[in-house]
Amino acid sequence: MSNRCIVLGGGLVGMAVALGAAAAGAEVVVLDDGDLALRASRGNAGLIWVQGKGDHLAAYAGWTRQSAALWPQFAASLLQQTGIDVEYRRPGGFHLCLGERELEARAAICAALAAQPGGTAMRMVDHATLRQHIPLIGEAVRGASWSPEDGYANPLTLLHAMHAAARLAGIVYRPAEPARHIQPLADGGFRVDTDAGQWTGARVVLAAGLANATLGPMVGLEVPVKPVRGQIVVTERLPRFLDYPTSTIRQNANGSVMFGNSVERDIGFSTATSISVTGRHAARAMLEFPHLAQARVVRSWSALRVMPRDELPIYQESARHPGAFVATCHSGVTLAAVHARVLGPALGTGTLPPDCAAFTTERFHAAPDHAA
Ligand SMILES: Cc1cc2nc3c(=O)[nH]c(=O)nc-3n(C[C@H](O)[C@H](O)[C@H](O)COP(=O)(O)OP(=O)(O)OC[C@H]3O[C@@H](n4cnc5c(N)ncnc54)[C@H](O)[C@@H]3O)c2cc1C
Repeated sequence: MSNRCIVLGGGLVGMAVALGAAAAGAEVVVLDDGDLALRASRGNAGLIWVQGKGDHLAAYAGWTRQSAALWPQFAASLLQQTGIDVEYRRPGGFHLCLGERELEARAAICAALAAQPGGTAMRMVDHATLRQHIPLIGEAVRGASWSPEDGYANPLTLLHAMHAAARLAGIVYRPAEPARHIQPLADGGFRVDTDAGQWTGARVVLAAGLANATLGPMVGLEVPVKPVRGQIVVTERLPRFLDYPTSTIRQNANGSVMFGNSVERDIGFSTATSISVTGRHAARAMLEFPHLAQARVVRSWSALRVMPRDELPIYQESARHPGAFVATCHSGVTLAAVHARVLGPALGTGTLPPDCAAFTTERFHAAPDHAA
């Protein structure tokens, strides 16, 4: 038990941490909930998105950029170890702006990021420049922000590859065995109770998404995360017209087009879809790309984001029960590489990396909320 790290949650965050901890030499056990559990990792848009992040907190911009920079080697090592191609691409990305107000708001974020130490690779482009890159763009799109740091991966093959890599690394994975209770032990370490039995370990990492809010207090951790629903729509396969991801729409390798990514608060834990929301997104998609009016929709779904109160990641060690950590965030695809390469190895040896100092829960008591 001395070197064992128990990771709670087998989504993108838990698996990235588990892989990193195992690479640092820890014996790792991942306890996960079952197939019907809420799992943002299976319902997301797959963007590895840098632009616009951290305009109120330079540390978040830096953490995101660090992850984007680590992504090429992360994707390559998953391919090399497992043979699974996560379809990682980094052609750069656009955030499309309809009308002057959207353009001005975006330009303000761009300026705020440019003023930070380290600056930003993000810049604004006008309609004519955009049309050179995306000829089928609609007239209603006034312009866009652009960043060469943005990219995407296939979220389903990504989660699959991380689980396959975990098996190869000797990580013990227990599906349908969620933690019911965590007991800090008198002589150090933790006991995790499940319906199937008990596990003990020197460290425990809470990476159970929305369940972190209820697991945290068992080890003296406050984890203010709430569900924020996102709905995504997929069309039939279309001839290629979009070589770049945008923040609201992208074309998959097979030709289908994904759009939407709504941000719905105060919906509780409902994963329902609604015509009112998907219809609004379809209307926007047709303004962005008028030819999509002819496309048939084949699928839609919703999933719940794991949203920290101020939208920034939360990484914290329990002061009351050292060795218990929480790791959670709302951009688990984007941050997967830095979680696997920086955060996980540190947690595997029982520390938080210095880059995470800005993301502890102390900020909830010290300062007004930051907006991500
Ligand atoms: C619509 C939508 C679009 C998104 N688009 C993007 C995007 O383009 N780019 C991006 O970077 N991010 C995106 N995200 C966010 C990203 O999907 C999440 O940040 C990421 O999946 C969070 O991973 P997680 O492992 O923390 O949580 P989850 O995926 O929710 O996983 C939590 C895991 O914990 C397990 N669990 C629950 N209770 C317990 C328990 N008691 N014990 C043990 N295990 C437990 C569950 O079974 C589950 O496997 C999007 C999210 C949504 C909803």
